[in-house]
Amino acid sequence: MSLKGKLAVITGSNSGIGLGAARELARAGADVVLNSFTDREEDHALASGLAAEFGISARYIAADMSKGDDCRALIEKAGGCDILVNNAGIQHVATIEDFPVEKWNAILAINLSSAFHTTAAALPGMKAKGWGRIVNIASAHGLTASPYKSAYVAAKHGVVGLTKVTALEVAGQGITANAICPGYVLTPLVEAQIPDQMKAHDMDRETVIREVMLLRQPSRQFATVEQIGGTAVYLCSDAAAQVTGTTISVDGGWTAL
Ligand code: NAD
Repeated sequence: MSLKGKLAVITGSNSGIGLGAARELARAGADVVLNSFTDREEDHALASGLAAEFGISARYIAADMSKGDDCRALIEKAGGCDILVNNAGIQHVATIEDFPVEKWNAILAINLSSAFHTTAAALPGMKAKGWGRIVNIASAHGLTASPYKSAYVAAKHGVVGLTKVTALEVAGQGITANAICPGYVLTPLVEAQIPDQMKAHDMDRETVIREVMLLRQPSRQFATVEQIGGTAVYLCSDAAAQVTGTTISVDGGWTAL
């Protein structure tokens, strides 16, 4: 499977799943654009590292995915893209009554609206080429719910809906749109939830991982960023040319329960 000559833009890709997806797409031969809002030296170094490791071209473009104009500017600065991975995301855990309004707004903006803006900016170029792949990183929480994650669950269900609409609007034009729905993947985003969960459940780290976080993941194993990235590569392959408007769960059986 070669993605040589394709340019992939991956939002929120200086860590976790985004970086894992960028690595797997680069391994498959795609040129990549990494993104976050931080614009540090080490962000640019990540891109040069990928270029050296996989013999592809890679660069880092800073853009804040909470801002619509920044989302659209990212695609413009990249010069359009063949593959768009909408991955940037944040989380906050609280009851609905205690959920800070600014957190709700930020989660909806970064986890959902950013995908609307980047997709709108990327589609004209994809249509002109008659080829494109949009891979939205949703979540098991795009298909099912958990308490205390109102904004995240609402945003991820929204991503699944946006994915379906995107697929329908471009059906038959060589462009597909799909959502990957990971269960728990041990990344900085999940790591940051562990102390809160330990406090909420009065449990130690290992117990809270097994008995709370992975309780609904029947494999009781975290998925890996390589597995999510590999699924993105599959969705970019010719074998997946008729896979569109759907979700692929990588969740150890969570949504089979
Ligand atoms: P992470 O915290 O490691 O990565 C999040 C990425 O988003 C980082 O690169 C960060 O820089 C970027 N980001 C955050 N705010 C941004 C902003 N305003 N502008 C630009 N970039 C921004 O988390 P992760 O676990 O790798 O999560 C990546 C995606 O996968 C998220 O959409 C998340 O909801 C989804 N997901 C994660 C899991 C999991 O278990 N880790 C499960 C299902 C879905």
